[in-house]
Amino acid sequence: MSLQDIVARIRKAEADAGREPGSVRLVAISKQQPNERVEAVLKAGHRLFGENRVQEAAGKWPAFRERFENVEVHLVGPLQTNKARHAFGLFQTVHSVDRPKLANTIARLAQEEGHCPDLFIQVNTGEEPQKAGILPADADSFVAECKAMDLPVRGLMCIPPVEEEASLHFALLAKIAARNGLAELSMGMSSDFEKAITFGATHVRVGSAIFGERTL
Ligand SMILES: *Cc1c(COP(=O)(O)O)cnc(C)c1O
Repeated sequence: MSLQDIVARIRKAEADAGREPGSVRLVAISKQQPNERVEAVLKAGHRLFGENRVQEAAGKWPAFRERFENVEVHLVGPLQTNKARHAFGLFQTVHSVDRPKLANTIARLAQEEGHCPDLFIQVNTGEEPQKAGILPADADSFVAECKAMDLPVRGLMCIPPVEEEASLHFALLAKIAARNGLAELSMGMSSDFEKAITFGATHVRVGSAIFGERTL
């Protein structure tokens, strides 16, 4: 697999679903990948990346940003409130707003810093106890709470349970987003991004299918 193959598969899935070409953004998940592989994807012209840890992103992206223009980095993993300020300086978008305490912290920092990353609310569609995210039953009120704080909520994100049919989770996330007037959906990874596009994904988060197995 390579970046070009994945982009071609995304374009085909968009066309098959009757969606505009380019309506799906590819977030290349570069966590735990050697810098040479990330650099190769940057040199191929890709500019949108995702990381799941603040510390790891901080050690990698400032240097790449000096060498490559217009790089966008998204946080797709859990964010501790004590790292939120650091995250403001590193990420243009946070896909993992998963609890009221974090939303409150982000709202306060947005006031102090005068800017705020775009936000997705993570929904625990499988209601898995070990997984982060707002439960589906609490999603509407949490979205309303975030909007009341003027947070720039763009959409919803989910990570379906590994052993379940992902389509059910993609459909549920799309339904919750639609009834809350949210336009963007962050869903689909290496094994199921085409399916996610069928269900309306606007951001697919693909790691190993682009870079190979994670090694770090
Ligand atoms: C690691 C990760 C991905 C990418 O997973 P792959 O299976 O390598 O495509 C996507 N989303 C999140 C939240 C991740 O942590």
